[in-house]
Amino acid sequence: MAGTPTIFHGSFVHSTKEKDMVTHNDMVIGVERGKIIFIEHETRLPDLMSEYSVPRDKVRHLEKWQFLMPGLVDTHIHAPQYAFAGSKMDLQLYDWLSTYTFPTEAKFKDLKYAMDVYSKVVDRTLKNGTTTACYFATLHRDATNLLFQIIEKAGQRAYVGKVNMDCCSPTYYKETMEESLEDTKKFVESTVSKKNPLVTPIITPRFTGSCSEELIMSLGRLNQQYQLPVQTHELETRADVGTGGLNHLHIWDKAGLLKHNTVLAHCVYISEEELDLLKLRGSGIAHCPNSNITLRSGFLDVRHVLEKGCKIGLGTDVSGGYSCSMLDALRSASQVSKTIAIQREERGENYEILTYKELFRLATLGGSEVMGLDETIGNFQVGKDFDGIVVDPLVENSPFDVFSTDTFSDIIQKFLFLGDDRNMIDVFVAGTRTSGR
Ligand SMILES: [Zn+2]
Repeated sequence: MAGTPTIFHGSFVHSTKEKDMVTHNDMVIGVERGKIIFIEHETRLPDLMSEYSVPRDKVRHLEKWQFLMPGLVDTHIHAPQYAFAGSKMDLQLYDWLSTYTFPTEAKFKDLKYAMDVYSKVVDRTLKNGTTTACYFATLHRDATNLLFQIIEKAGQRAYVGKVNMDCCSPTYYKETMEESLEDTKKFVESTVSKKNPLVTPIITPRFTGSCSEELIMSLGRLNQQYQLPVQTHELETRADVGTGGLNHLHIWDKAGLLKHNTVLAHCVYISEEELDLLKLRGSGIAHCPNSNITLRSGFLDVRHVLEKGCKIGLGTDVSGGYSCSMLDALRSASQVSKTIAIQREERGENYEILTYKELFRLATLGGSEVMGLDETIGNFQVGKDFDGIVVDPLVENSPFDVFSTDTFSDIIQKFLFLGDDRNMIDVFVAGTRTSGR
């Protein structure tokens, strides 16, 4: 019933601005019209039920070992590339783009094909707990509109971008500067007018080399009018590093496209000066470790980015990254951090690896900060939207086992490193159940 709060009672885990991980047992969280209206100790449950007129059947008592966590935030994913996720992993970035990616993306002119792939990627990511996703679509306006509609219907929170690419593209998959701008304008106008609180268009120049300066400047002017989020790829491979200085980020900054809600994928080869500029502008990095290994691009030093105080979250980068699961992104980030540690130790240096608590923060609150959504989602806080996952470690066919000696902290770690969608029995976006077992 609309207007009647739902109460969740049990354990939960989340990150706060101050701490990477905070756990609570015996708590109650009240949700009304998609928003968290109270978080209190369970001793207050009877009072809260009468105060808010909540009937018994609107109180969800989590069972032993079940817990609630914030929804996962995928800061970088290419919806059309889901079609070949898990295959075609033999090449490095630029060969991979021309051999597999552009031919696949070109097929999205066909709306029937787009419908099939887009329905599946939204369904699969939601099932895997991705309550918020930052999507690249393709050059096609119609198919990008379709992706927008599919996401709206499924109830996922998302940014959706029509890709801009007027340079260095193959003859069968390209657009002129004028077409690129015109189609982006039309896509933005038609989607902004829907005023959907969950799904927003995002300005999406593919990367610096794929857009003319004229197009980038025009997108900057368009964005001044609509104040939308922005996403692109930056400094992904060694070949992307120019002559130094600010030549890559500078072009986005010149166009006014480096903002608090600008998402820069990868930044593996980012310089100190560029990190300083990112911090100054409040733009964030989407760290995509599976992709960085699969395409053999390199290792981003996340510890250094965190020490610099820049915003950073995790992305699957499907299908440069072969898995659409954010738990996989978290695990890959751990492996990359440990690989850097091994390299440093060989040089006689110490390196502080990412802890499971930091990895958890990157996958939730960190991602929300990168997307400029941390006032709305990312953790459990009164006034924020309720985007959450009910995790059941004891579900039938669970991919991991629980022992009598396990603590809550052990269970959280086991879920993060061994769990999967089978353990996610409910996935909520703004208080609405979107997926689950
Ligand atoms: Zn990407």
